[in-house]
Amino acid sequence: MTAAMDTENALFDLPPDVADARAWAHDFAVRYIRPAAADYDAREETPWPVIQDAAIAGLYTPEFALQAFTDPSGLMLPVVAEEIFWGDGGMGQALLGTFLPLAALVGAGTPEQIRTWTPEFFGSVEHPAVAALCASEPDAGSDAANIRTRAEFDEPSGDWILNGVKTWATNGGIAGVHVINATVDRDLGARGHALFLVPPGTPGISQGQKFSKHGLRASHTAEVLLEDVRIPSGLVLGGKDALDARLAAARERRKVRVPAAMAAFEATRPSIAGMAVGVARAAYEYALDYAKTRVQFGRPIIANQGIAFMLADMATEIDAARLLAWRASNQLARGIPLRNAEGSMAKLKASEVAVRTTEQAIQILGGNGYTRDYPVERWARDAKIFTIYEGTSEIQRLIISRAISGIRIE
Ligand SMILES: Cc1cc2nc3c(=O)[nH]c(=O)nc-3n(C[C@H](O)[C@H](O)[C@H](O)COP(=O)(O)OP(=O)(O)OC[C@H]3O[C@@H](n4cnc5c(N)ncnc54)[C@H](O)[C@@H]3O)c2cc1C
Repeated sequence: MTAAMDTENALFDLPPDVADARAWAHDFAVRYIRPAAADYDAREETPWPVIQDAAIAGLYTPEFALQAFTDPSGLMLPVVAEEIFWGDGGMGQALLGTFLPLAALVGAGTPEQIRTWTPEFFGSVEHPAVAALCASEPDAGSDAANIRTRAEFDEPSGDWILNGVKTWATNGGIAGVHVINATVDRDLGARGHALFLVPPGTPGISQGQKFSKHGLRASHTAEVLLEDVRIPSGLVLGGKDALDARLAAARERRKVRVPAAMAAFEATRPSIAGMAVGVARAAYEYALDYAKTRVQFGRPIIANQGIAFMLADMATEIDAARLLAWRASNQLARGIPLRNAEGSMAKLKASEVAVRTTEQAIQILGGNGYTRDYPVERWARDAKIFTIYEGTSEIQRLIISRAISGIRIE
């Protein structure tokens, strides 16, 4: 255990079940993720055998996922996410990508929908499945309210009919269940959006382009095309009656809840921060070990302040980012409103720490850091995603500045 992982002397002790889960996830990362990571990155393939290993180990199961989502301390998710992403960013995304649609289901679904659909998201040990949350579109990335994918209710059949093009979906097209953010009433902007479950094998849903990426290459990212996709009325998250009531309130300009997809992103930001901390910690630990053993000018390179101070900053920044992630997660679990956008603060800080730390790790490794024979260049490629997805760093700053000022900063 390294200094940056030794959090027992932080503000508080981890609850025993969270500490156990951390050790368990770390062990899984050491045994199954690290050894396979470079290969899946090079081949740009979803690591299905490792997802199955995680299912066998009990990490990739509906039971564990729901336990993590309902952990009263809120720390289970960021702590486990840190360990899995410490193993590898791309494989971590392949293993935890399903947790984003799960956050949407848990946040917006009825208890019956959560009970029925969570197992479908994960499949079985014999046949593991992944799930996808499709919110982004070609013309609606940061401007998430601008989606065009429509959900129309067909009264005679009692079905919803979905049409549109989604993009950048993690697990899009290879997922069993796709959770689709669609507009039911465009005049209402984001308040007219709802989330729909599209079960495996539903006609009309297909994969478009699969993206070849800079990092997170073991995670599948693709367009999802929806052409007259029919699903039963009960597959809108929260139920149709609740949706009708929400739309009626929005039309009468009464206050309505934050749209479900945005609520899912809010809830997952501290865990995304945990993932970024994991990648940063991996690079820091590697660079620390390297700096102690690489000798130039007759002494280890860490004996130079130029290198040692860089490592000191890395350790400090990683611990600061982790504490922000834990604070936001703990607030969410205790139902304390994130009035100063503490979730966005955690995501912003941890993303930028991951990018800076991995870049510094390459610098510390010198020429070796720049090659694929060493893992830090892969971690640097992976780290860049955190300033982009689930709200870019600029969007996090918008959210934070609006929250702290009460002014609509543009
Ligand atoms: C690997 C990967 C996985 C992803 N997984 C998913 C997924 O599972 N589901 C999903 O729905 N989406 C997913 N996304 C999409 C991701 O959330 C979007 O890429 C992200 O929200 C940014 O949108 P955009 O790419 O359209 O960029 P744009 O919105 O076009 O932004 C381009 C640039 O302009 C800046 N910008 C935009 N508006 C403003 C503003 N008002 N003020 C200041 N700067 C601004 C942005 O910060 C950015 O720097 C994924 C993306 C990637 C790359």
